[in-house]
Amino acid sequence: MHDYSPPELYLDHNSTSPITDSVAQAVKPFILSEFGNPSSKNNVFGVRAADALEHARAHVAALIGASTENIVFTSGGTESCFAGIGGVFRASPEKRHLIISAVEHPAVLETAEYLAAVSDIETTIIPVDRNGEIDLEQLSAAIRPDTGLISVMYANNETGIILPLPEVVAIARKRNVPVHTDAVQAVGKLPVRFGELGVDLLSLSAHKFGGLKGAGVLAIREGLRWEAVVKGGGQERGRRGGTEAVPAIVAMGEAARARKHQLDTGAMLALVGLRDFFEDILVERIPDVCITGAKSPRLPNTSSVRIHGTVAQELLQLLAVRGVIVSAGSACHTTNVKPSHVLRAMGISTPDCISTLRFSFGLELSREAVMHLVDILCETVAYFRAETKELLQANLR
Ligand code: PLP
Repeated sequence: MHDYSPPELYLDHNSTSPITDSVAQAVKPFILSEFGNPSSKNNVFGVRAADALEHARAHVAALIGASTENIVFTSGGTESCFAGIGGVFRASPEKRHLIISAVEHPAVLETAEYLAAVSDIETTIIPVDRNGEIDLEQLSAAIRPDTGLISVMYANNETGIILPLPEVVAIARKRNVPVHTDAVQAVGKLPVRFGELGVDLLSLSAHKFGGLKGAGVLAIREGLRWEAVVKGGGQERGRRGGTEAVPAIVAMGEAARARKHQLDTGAMLALVGLRDFFEDILVERIPDVCITGAKSPRLPNTSSVRIHGTVAQELLQLLAVRGVIVSAGSACHTTNVKPSHVLRAMGISTPDCISTLRFSFGLELSREAVMHLVDILCETVAYFRAETKELLQANLR
């Protein structure tokens, strides 16, 4: 029996989420005995695997307000973004221009770099303001007759800031340009409605909402000019070659079913209350703390916090020793700390980027745990600041 017990202070759900008991139970037969290939419908194992895929497809479609016809299984968010964007340019070779926002995940940024390298497709990057919001006038002005696609994420993974997709879609529609959204962080945390949103392509990833790593979806609007980039045995109605990862897809289906329930009952959105409680007591108890994007609409579970006079990469190690698992707003390489491109794009200074921690909550978090978390943060930050002060003074002597 699977024991569902994520660490009490696991606050890194935007990085990946723990697997719930119902997901573990759903996937078990597909590891132990249901080994069929969904394309081999001439045997019962294959038929059962194919049925399991369709069952999962229905649950994922329901989670994002799409039809099952829209859903193409992939290996995750990165592949979905690559295939979504790449497939539009493959289908329309006369289009030579892509528009993206400055705060996209590398899954989109590096797809743009790849397209530039292999087929000279130019990319315009639309800046964001201090609140993480994109400049819609610049977006509109950037559209050219050869613009093939606009790709703007639904919500940012580091700050949780929600981008104005309905406005982006309205601008794009007027000019007949399709829109892709990287909704990897939004799906399962917000009531995402693919059909109503009016986007042409949407990417999601199972391990961000309770599924396994290695499964995702690219949702494609029927009738869109788009061509597969992963070709092969004709799986997924020719839209993504390769035998489907049945256990991971079954897990994604169950995770989608469970998350839809948590969204429908309001449990997921109730996290806003806990997030705000966390931010309020944090700002009250620790001097020189700033919440990034506090004025913008944000994911209910994400808090990006600048704690002046600290180095997040070091702070997170001290916190990990005390059972608090969080992420930093910077990437640590062996010789230097690289500030996050997302925070930089918002005009945040390098020292502030380096002092940024990201807290991303899950439903298991309680009010008591938040208070415990803030106690630990107070002690750790005070210790860090005192140590740094002593070091500085010693160096000045
Ligand atoms: N897009 C966003 C916004 C993400 O946060 C991530 C993962 O962190 C991805 C794409 C990539 O998803 P995957 O890990 O499934 O490839």
